[in-house]
Amino acid sequence: MLDKIVIANRGEIALRILRACKELGIKTVAVHSTADHTQKHVRLADESVCIGPPPSTESYLNIPAIISAAEVTDAMGIHPGYGFLSENADFAERVEQSGFRFIGPKAETIRIMGDKVEAIKSMKKAGVPTVPGSDGPLGSDDETNLKLGRQVGYPIIIKAAGGGGGRGMRVVHSEATLLQAITMTRTEAATAFNNDVVYMEKFLENPRHVEIQVLADEHGNAIHLGERDCSMQRRHQKVVEEAPAPGITKALRSEIGERCAKACQDIGYIGAGTFEFLYENDEFYFIEMNTRVQVEHPVTEMITGVDIVREQLRIASGMPLAYKQKDIKVRGHAIECRINAEDARTFIPSPGKVTTYHAPGGIGVRVDSHLYTGYSVPPHYDSMIGKLITYGEDRATAIARMRTALDEVVIEGIRNNIDLHRDIIRDANFEKGGTNIHYLEKKLDL
Ligand code: ADP
Repeated sequence: MLDKIVIANRGEIALRILRACKELGIKTVAVHSTADHTQKHVRLADESVCIGPPPSTESYLNIPAIISAAEVTDAMGIHPGYGFLSENADFAERVEQSGFRFIGPKAETIRIMGDKVEAIKSMKKAGVPTVPGSDGPLGSDDETNLKLGRQVGYPIIIKAAGGGGGRGMRVVHSEATLLQAITMTRTEAATAFNNDVVYMEKFLENPRHVEIQVLADEHGNAIHLGERDCSMQRRHQKVVEEAPAPGITKALRSEIGERCAKACQDIGYIGAGTFEFLYENDEFYFIEMNTRVQVEHPVTEMITGVDIVREQLRIASGMPLAYKQKDIKVRGHAIECRINAEDARTFIPSPGKVTTYHAPGGIGVRVDSHLYTGYSVPPHYDSMIGKLITYGEDRATAIARMRTALDEVVIEGIRNNIDLHRDIIRDANFEKGGTNIHYLEKKLDL
C-alpha cells in the first residue's frame, strides 16, 4: 500500500481524498496556494506545503512545484482529484518519470481519451456504441464533407477533437451552413486547443446524459458500478445528479455496463473512470471518457456501497479490485445537489466570508463539503463549495430527504444556489424523472 501521498487539489475533493487516506492508514500531504492555507483538509493533513500564489496557473497547475512537494515530503504518490491536472497526460507522465505513482490511468490512456477522435475510435473498436458520424477527422474536401453530411443526416454537430468543457462545437441545421461551420470550428479549435482536427456527429435533439462508472486494476480485472443520470445541466455544467438513472432496466444496465468494463480491459485501463453517453430512445451513444474521479461519484457510492476513492488508492498501490462484478448490487436511490457560491438566479459567483453555516443531517444525508463558519470562499477558483447527497430505499424517499435537507441548510454571508435546488427538487417533471439535458435551461428561461 502507498504509505504517503500528495493531494494535488483543494476544496471538497481534497477533503474526500484525505478521509479515504486516513481510513487506509495512508499519510497525507496537502499542497495549497497562499489563498488556501485555511482549508479544512490543509489543517487535517499530516503535512502541508504551500506551492504558490492564488492563481491556479501558479499553484494547482504548477507541475514542478507539486512534484517538488512530493520530493521534499518523501511521498510515494500523487492524487490529482478532478479538474486542475487530473486529465493532463504530461503531468501524469512527469509524476511517473519523477518516481512517484500517479493515482489514475497511464499517461498514454489519458492522452488517447483527451483526443475525442482517438477516444471514439478506440471505443468503437471495443464495441461501445458511439454517435453516428464522420468516423474520424474531417478532411478539407468540400464535396466529401457535404456528402458525409447527407449520409449522417441533419441536424449535425461539428466538434473539435481537442475540445472540452462544452467548448469547440457547433450545431448545423442544414447543408447551407455546413462548410462555413466546419471552417469556423476548425479556426477556433486551432486557437483554443492548439489542434485543428474537427469531426462530425449526428446531433441528438433531446438526449439525456447517462454515464457509467468503472473500476479497473492493473491485473486485468474491470467492473462497472452502474449508471448515473446527470441530465440536469446549465451550460453543460451538471447541477443535480442521481443514481440509478430513472427508467434504466437492470438488463440494460448490465448490457452497457459490461461493454464498458470489457472496453477497459481492451484498452488496458487502470483506475476509476467514467464513460459518458447521450441516451435517447433507449439507445446509448458514447461521447467521451473521463479518466478521473468525478464530482458526482458519491451517488454511485451510496447505491453500491463501494468507496470509489478507496478503490483508486488500492488500485494505485497495485492491489487487485476488492470486488467482482457479481458482488456489485444496486440498492436504493441517491441524489446529489451541487452547492455553489453563486447567485441562485443570475449564477454570478459570490466569493466571501461564510458568517454562519449549519449542515443538514439525519438518516440518508451525506454532506461532502469543506465549508465551516468563518471560512472565506476565495474568488480564484471554481464556485462549488460542497455537495449535498441523499439516499433512500427508493427515489421518492431520496427526494423527500433532499427536500428536508435543503430546507435545513443555512449558509450566510455569501450567496448560494440552495434556492435553485429547492425549486428543482420540487419540480413536477423532475419528480417524474427522466428529463433531458435541455430541461433546466428551458425551465430557467420561464
Ligand atoms: P466536453 O468535453 O466539452 O464536455 P462533450 O463531447 O462531452 O464535450 O459534449 C458536451 C455536451 O455537448 C454534451 O453533454 C451534450 O449536451 C452536447 N453534445 C455533444 N455531442 C452531442 C451530440 N452528438 N448531439 C447532441 N448534443 C451533443
